[in-house]
Amino acid sequence: MKISVLIPFYNEEKQVPITLAALRPILDSLGCDYEAVLVDDGSTDGTWDALRSASAQDARIRSLRFSRNFGKEAALCAALEAADGDACIVMDGDLQHPPEVIPEMIHLWREEGFEVVEGVKSSRGHESLASRFNATLFYGLFRRLSGFDLENASDFKLLDRRVVAEWRRLGEHDTFFRGLSAWLGFRRCKVPFDVAERKAGRSKWSPFKLVRLSLNAITSFSALPLQLVSLLGAVLLVLSLALGVQTLVRFLQGNAADGFTTVILLVLLIGGCIMLSLGLIGLYLARIFDEVKGRPRFIVSEDTRRRSR
Ligand code: UDP
Ligand code: MG
Repeated sequence: MKISVLIPFYNEEKQVPITLAALRPILDSLGCDYEAVLVDDGSTDGTWDALRSASAQDARIRSLRFSRNFGKEAALCAALEAADGDACIVMDGDLQHPPEVIPEMIHLWREEGFEVVEGVKSSRGHESLASRFNATLFYGLFRRLSGFDLENASDFKLLDRRVVAEWRRLGEHDTFFRGLSAWLGFRRCKVPFDVAERKAGRSKWSPFKLVRLSLNAITSFSALPLQLVSLLGAVLLVLSLALGVQTLVRFLQGNAADGFTTVILLVLLIGGCIMLSLGLIGLYLARIFDEVKGRPRFIVSEDTRRRSR
């Protein structure tokens, strides 16, 4: 039996040794084989050197380096691609996902037969009011649009190798790990944990990255926003019909400027139709565009398990 621990790092040079030191005794105490797959998500500081030297000291640690910053989601994809354990544990590199929970996760997986063990936040740690508000707003919207309730969900999860095999078959490029792992199903259970304070560095999520992730999440799980554009077109069409009737009446009463009536009618009608069609086409276009590009999700420039030339 082999456990894979998957961790993305982005500009965490100070954090890498702290995290690995905290992780090692816990993994050693499991009494089974393990590997750690660490991904450097295009860091600009000394993160790669820290990962490489960790790999040099311990053959069970494999480090991958991205050619640039592709984002945490891509780093998780790369790690899930590379891992070959019977169970994969995905966690953050900043110890906000406490490694002390790992033995319990493994117990639930091995003894109770759960294929997905999800870490859920029992407290969100110290967080600004704004970020808590945004999280509530996003998860509320996501639940309504997709039907999956991810409130308090986290990326701290154990996945059985069968779940990982299904994950690898997913074709989409902009993944949303939290949502997709819920979408995959399988026998699942939850383990509560407290979000610890960050020891070194600060959160790597800029507001821009968070907005992008939220938009990716919502558009890849629901076509409703695009359908709302069509709805808008329909409403405009109805409005333009009402306006059209009024314009016609004024024309029949003889108090409209000549020729204007036809122009107004046409503009209203065509405008409504264009909105309606654009919404419909956009619905398909956005989906096709993303799929058709077919770019790789990430590019690995260095891998400690691959011989470098
Ligand atoms: N991370 C990453 N790429 C990024 C941003 C973050 O690999 O572009 C990693 C980061 O190094 C950390 C994990 O994702 O290990 C969670 O990031 P962070 O702690 O900044 O997020 P937060 O805890 O604020 O949600
Ligand atoms: Mg964090």
